[in-house]
Amino acid sequence: MSSNCIEALPDSVVKQIAAGEVIASPASVVRELAENALDAKATRVTISLDPQLSSIRVVDNGEGMSLQNLRCCACPHTTSKIQSFADLQKIVSLGFRGEALHSMTQIASLEILSRPRNWEEAVGYRIQYGKGGQIVSEKPIAIAPGTIVTVSDIFADFPARRHALPKVSQQLKTIQKTVYEIALSHPGLTWQVYHGQRLWVHLSPGETPQQLLPQMLPKYRESDFQYVCREATTPEQGGQSYLELAVGLPDRASRAQGDWIKTAVNGRCVRLPELEQTIISGLIRTLPRDRYPICWLHLHTNPSLIDWNRHPAKAEIYLRHLNYWQEQTAHALNEALTFNPSSVPETVHNQRVGELIKAQEAQGSYQLSDRLVPEEDNELSILSLSAIAQVHNTYIIAEHPTGIWLIEQHIAHERLLYEQLEDEWQLVPHDPPLILNQLSQQQQRQLERLGLEIDAFGEQMWAVRTVPKILQARDDLSDAILELSFGGDLQTAQVATACRSAIRNGTPLSLSQMQEILDGWKRTRHPHTCPHGRPIYLSLEETSLAKFFRRHWVIGKSHGI
Ligand SMILES: [Zn+2]
Repeated sequence: MSSNCIEALPDSVVKQIAAGEVIASPASVVRELAENALDAKATRVTISLDPQLSSIRVVDNGEGMSLQNLRCCACPHTTSKIQSFADLQKIVSLGFRGEALHSMTQIASLEILSRPRNWEEAVGYRIQYGKGGQIVSEKPIAIAPGTIVTVSDIFADFPARRHALPKVSQQLKTIQKTVYEIALSHPGLTWQVYHGQRLWVHLSPGETPQQLLPQMLPKYRESDFQYVCREATTPEQGGQSYLELAVGLPDRASRAQGDWIKTAVNGRCVRLPELEQTIISGLIRTLPRDRYPICWLHLHTNPSLIDWNRHPAKAEIYLRHLNYWQEQTAHALNEALTFNPSSVPETVHNQRVGELIKAQEAQGSYQLSDRLVPEEDNELSILSLSAIAQVHNTYIIAEHPTGIWLIEQHIAHERLLYEQLEDEWQLVPHDPPLILNQLSQQQQRQLERLGLEIDAFGEQMWAVRTVPKILQARDDLSDAILELSFGGDLQTAQVATACRSAIRNGTPLSLSQMQEILDGWKRTRHPHTCPHGRPIYLSLEETSLAKFFRRHWVIGKSHGI
């Protein structure tokens, strides 16, 4: 609860607030109270749920409420944040729905204890509210600064609504999701959620969402994710914006469902279906088939560029300059996945960005300087990787400053060629034309769809007059074209072409040929996996090697220590 002055809203504004301000479930109680705690600048939030979810208590260490605010915070249509409709459009803080506490008094019992942080009196107040938000009892009470809100007997007087709720286990999942999404939007907080006596969710604060993801998905480690923060300038006034993206490295962290593609705007998790699609399609030739990314995208932008009226509960929004944000999201994905100073070495960079964001936030929002974005990389900062040897005519052994890498030659080359084809699908004349027999009409149409020039050439024969440049000199050109004629979109054709053209496993390579593959591959946008989603490299870090060989054992100088 914030101690800003809370005022009653004029009727005109009240009408403009969408009617969806009702408390639909225990999960919405949790969301509203947790967001209020964020508004009060809490750094620690403890949520206690009784086993049947009929009562919920949220304790925060935020700035607390004055007695005056405490007295009217559950009245109808009050909020400290909105005074006019114009303000409504510029809303920055989360708890803009002044109706929430009032609604809670109508479906449950509400009690609030609060003590302002900056108040002479070392005392807080406890107020019990009646239906409609009026004060039933008021007592001074000795508590630590902050606010304790207890909502009990939820839906006790509404058996029909109570019965309509999903099973407790299902509701708990929704509550967990709610807490996770709020925590990812504000990684600097400590969260504890008790279900009955059991500490059920515990999240430690992080500098960035990258540190929170492994706490929520314990199968993964922090290094399985990559985090980037990009400055953005929307093509309109007030364009100082930035976006944060944390994504699972495609060779290590992905999901069978799209349930961990999450988007947020200005501290609030909302659905942005178009940007979710950008993320999915950006990784379609990077993740294995039927796998979905783990991705957290958070846009920080001028609130006037957001239209909250897509969904009554503000769960889904429209974004102005959508194309711009789609582009930025695609760039951020590439920046996160490519090898660059921000990914190698990972930890040093993350700390730095974390510190910058903190400093920026302390100065106030949306005033980002250009210090935030790391310098574009130069030759020096691109990962240094030297080919040392080839094993089984299949793997390239490469040395790099922090260890040894093993790279599968075919798929590294395939990734390189695929991205080249993606950038430039160049069709060149083939003269004399390539003659193919017995093409079905479907095959003919497929080749035309891919841009190839093709026409009938006598009985059951077809002349192919243009072919992909990369294939033109191949002995197996007709096989390659036939393969493309069997269907798939342009990307599929590009993958097939890259695969056919890439160096086969089993082919002996000279050091310089290997180096050439490495140099090309390490500059690709998505070097972690091949276009089918297989991992391309295995890294053995020097630190783990040292551990394995027990280099810390002091044996004697003769062992090269
Ligand atoms: Zn292949």
